[in-house]
Amino acid sequence: MGNTFYFPTRLIFSNDSVADLILELNSPDPVRVLFLTDSGLINAGIVEPFVKKLGEAGIAVEVFSDVPGNPNVQDMLPAYKAAQKLNATHVVGLGGGSVIDTAKAVGILLAHPGMDWEDLQWGRVKVDRPAFPVIAIPTTAGTGSEVTKVTVIGDHTGFKKGFLHPYVFTRAAIIDGSLSLSLPPKLTAATGMDALVHAIEAYTGKRANPMTDLFALGAMRSIVKWLPEATRNGGNLAARQAMGEAAAMAGIAFDQSGLALAHAIGGPLTATYHLHHGLGIASLLPATLEFNAPAISNERWSGLQAALSLHETSNPSSLADWARKFISDLGLPVQLSEVGLRKEDIPEIAVGTTRMAMYTNNIRSASVEEIITLLEKNM
Ligand code: NAD
Repeated sequence: MGNTFYFPTRLIFSNDSVADLILELNSPDPVRVLFLTDSGLINAGIVEPFVKKLGEAGIAVEVFSDVPGNPNVQDMLPAYKAAQKLNATHVVGLGGGSVIDTAKAVGILLAHPGMDWEDLQWGRVKVDRPAFPVIAIPTTAGTGSEVTKVTVIGDHTGFKKGFLHPYVFTRAAIIDGSLSLSLPPKLTAATGMDALVHAIEAYTGKRANPMTDLFALGAMRSIVKWLPEATRNGGNLAARQAMGEAAAMAGIAFDQSGLALAHAIGGPLTATYHLHHGLGIASLLPATLEFNAPAISNERWSGLQAALSLHETSNPSSLADWARKFISDLGLPVQLSEVGLRKEDIPEIAVGTTRMAMYTNNIRSASVEEIITLLEKNM
């Protein structure tokens, strides 16, 4: 089977996201916006200027801020009910991946009233019409949700089962680095590592292709340059804007070519311990690179080596140590026990890994026993 590259989102690199949002909402018809965000962003003072300026522009807005991290279906449905009550015409998601995924799910449900989300995510029913328009404004530089056709909403048990469909793409994504200036260093590092792993897995996964390579390599080059600076010096706007752009590039790459073992293990790992997504994924990078190293071809290696700025004497088997140093220099843990992994949970996490869609895209097939071994070795 060949590859298709499809990306319908209008991607706006902005230095005034409020003004750009108002332009996006411009319509001859009445506009009612459900404005999704979370309490952290309200407290950071990021939401208020949007609401004020939208109001001044005569746009009806209702703010819904009760979106937790790693949202499950029971967290997303109240947002959908609020949108229904408002008779919303548009959904805006201002926040990290948790808020944007919720906005994307609400957009789908608004177009399919009465549809059961879990029926949809487990493939028992299908979408048959475009979602209501969703505009994503990321405030973390990591998940790439603003540019992907997947929304990751856990089912009622917390299993992180993404729903993928071209109708899930947002209508527009506004990338404004100034919105992440308030992101604390640890979250900057963890979300940025999520983007780096997206790029590495898109580039090394089985479905990598010349189009996705462009985005993946561009993202890697930018992230190794700018993530340490954005983490150390969060007020550096150039670093924030570059990370916002790189996270979108990595998102485009993985959306089109798939993810691999770190994200496959990351699903059950983060769900088991209610871990921040990027933190869990970052901690899995060294172990999965170590496992994959023997399967990295010379051609893939030369691309990786250049994009990650690795020394010319380096080779695939030194990748894991490079990742350990890069991650610990960012102040993040490199041992899995440091993010909470317990030995007794490893078999269940390994089995859960094999249920994740990205598991089969890994460059080297991993049995449950091999996943157990690699997790135990990196405790
Ligand atoms: P998040 O959205 O869960 O946010 C983490 C925390 O950061 C929150 O407390 C939030 O208030 C705070 N925060 C965000 N921006 C801030 C800012 N500018 N200033 C201060 N605080 C700020 O974190 P995330 O890593 O962006 O998203 C993780 C979610 O995204 C997970 O549920 C994951 O499964 C999902 N995800 C989705 C995709 C996709 O393509 N749909 C891809 C990867 C991950």
